[in-house]
Amino acid sequence: MAHVFVAPHPDDVALSCGGLIASLRELGQNVTIVTVFSGAGPAGGAEPTSLSAYQREALGFGTKTLWPLGEAFNPANLPNDFAVGDGEGRRAPWEADTDRLNETQAEADQAAKRFWQRSSWYRRADIHNRPLAGQPLMDELPTQGAVLTTELTEAEAAGDLMAARRLEDERFAYFSEASSVFLDLPDAVFRGYEGDEQLLSGPRPDDSAPYEIVRREVARLEPQKVYFPLGVGNHVDHQLLREVGVSLLGESDRWVMPGPDWAGRVVFYEDFPYAWWGGFGQLDDLPPGALAGLPEGVTLVPEYGDISDMLERKINGVRLYGSQLDRLFGGERQMGEAVRGYGAKIGRLGGLDGPGERYWSSARL
Ligand SMILES: [Zn+2]
Repeated sequence: MAHVFVAPHPDDVALSCGGLIASLRELGQNVTIVTVFSGAGPAGGAEPTSLSAYQREALGFGTKTLWPLGEAFNPANLPNDFAVGDGEGRRAPWEADTDRLNETQAEADQAAKRFWQRSSWYRRADIHNRPLAGQPLMDELPTQGAVLTTELTEAEAAGDLMAARRLEDERFAYFSEASSVFLDLPDAVFRGYEGDEQLLSGPRPDDSAPYEIVRREVARLEPQKVYFPLGVGNHVDHQLLREVGVSLLGESDRWVMPGPDWAGRVVFYEDFPYAWWGGFGQLDDLPPGALAGLPEGVTLVPEYGDISDMLERKINGVRLYGSQLDRLFGGERQMGEAVRGYGAKIGRLGGLDGPGERYWSSARL
């Protein structure tokens, strides 16, 4: 079971949900980020499904399933089946005592010396699962997150903007121990939208929401919760994904056979920093009709999360999006101020003791 965050663009989820993601990972929950409009798109606007198998793989599309949690492989995280006391003489029957362990270690050392006798050094094997010579233990290395492929880093070095943005997203995935999926649909600027006026008004009639492709990807991940943008700020790509979330909620009504019920699983997040700039306070602040597609009997209720412990981590996560900081905030310091400012505002709205994030959770009446 996973928490799936649907991002219009690289950076949206770090900006809007960084606190929640850090909390979920702290609790050992799986987090997957599905970034939808991460592509420049082939000329002519061909469907991404027409990409070759190699291209799909190189772009990270649909090749990753859930990664196992690193903690699961650290024996220290496995609880004992039986209570075991502390100290010598109170060991469980299957545990070796210190003398025997030391003896085995000495034998291992002798064997290693014999094996490496022709060199001036030898490799020492440690049987205690303790780090030697400052080398990290395999058990403690994160196993989720970024795949910084050569193709990607080379494309970035060559000045490919979308590659640079995907790379930032991969770094955030590594930082936050999430796995990431790129759908690489073309960004609105590659679909003929020009200037703020077009980008920030309604989607064109011929530019329909990518319902099928997002639905398939989300369903494949079998999420416990799936988070869509609320579309605050009206960016066309954000609006289209809000539409996908709303459509999912109506899905069970359209099916003849009983299907999955998305109510309770679909959650909407407030698009930061647009929600901060626009003074967003409640759902009524959205343009009229924004949520008109919600099926009868389904409502959205606010849920507040205290992110006091996660605020600095959230800021450090956003900092990884170096290409966006100046454009969005005018600098790193101003970014930090904006994240803290909005967190404090939400905290006050929710009656929390510290900064917060707010989510709008779907629920059946
Ligand atoms: Zn965005």
